[in-house]
Amino acid sequence: MDGRERKPLVNPRGNCGVKTMLIEQTLFGTTDKVADAIKLLRDHEPPEGYYLCFSGGKDSVVIYDLAVKAGVKFDVHHNVTTVEPPELMRFVLSLFPNNDIKESPRFTMAQLIVKNKIPPLRNIRYCCAELKERGGRGRVKLTGIRAEESPRRAKRPKFELSPDKRTSFVHVIKDWSEHDVWEYIRENNLPYCSLYDEGFKRIGCVLCPFQNFASTQRDLERFPAIVDYYRRACRKSYEVNQMTFNKGRQTWQSGDDMFNWWINERRGRYIAEDCNSIPLFSEDDGSVL
Ligand code: SF4
Repeated sequence: MDGRERKPLVNPRGNCGVKTMLIEQTLFGTTDKVADAIKLLRDHEPPEGYYLCFSGGKDSVVIYDLAVKAGVKFDVHHNVTTVEPPELMRFVLSLFPNNDIKESPRFTMAQLIVKNKIPPLRNIRYCCAELKERGGRGRVKLTGIRAEESPRRAKRPKFELSPDKRTSFVHVIKDWSEHDVWEYIRENNLPYCSLYDEGFKRIGCVLCPFQNFASTQRDLERFPAIVDYYRRACRKSYEVNQMTFNKGRQTWQSGDDMFNWWINERRGRYIAEDCNSIPLFSEDDGSVL
């Protein structure tokens, strides 16, 4: 698909705007983050075009619009994780009604839970590599990750290579704040997922183990069908594996017991940060950067 044919995202609530400035005063003078981002995209455009990672979140809406404004070649890819909020899926479909950006996973989250004998945890994070970060090997991947999202992300360079050095990443809005992102969306009248209007600050996989306690509680109430999906996956995992995990160091009496442990005990320890989708690009060696 030739990215040059991609059109600006259209907000059903109004026309797409054309404002392209995000001025910031620094010690070294005035900078325009939008102009900088567009220049960066143009300067580093690969001959085959960018592989644009489109999650459907606010940051991906911005990088899509920047790529259109820069006039660079790109193709869009949305990795379906099978545990995204239905509102997010509907939003992506509303933008791309042909569904031509959808990348289906080899395994669903439920299958991964059975395969790995345990739901994903921060220290057992098999799912991002399989569900979120696959695809684009050997390409230049355009992402919407930002330094503000976590100390780990703040340390990442704007350009980087995968561990096997085959895939490049350009984090074009790495230095943008959340305020910058929203200002750009509003100034340009870009569409965004309705969950943000409900107070969601980040949107990604429901019950992601990188969420904090409050977000976990919110997901339990807000997305009962996906909660039930996880519960059934735990039951299946217990039924298939009839097992204890980690050489007997963790045992469950049933699939429901596994699910409750996952929600209440194991996850409850993590309350410090809310970092949905923190793992990044580990498809090559299964490790998490
Ligand atoms: S965002 Fe969270 S739940 Fe989704 S694939 Fe990554 S670690 Fe797993």
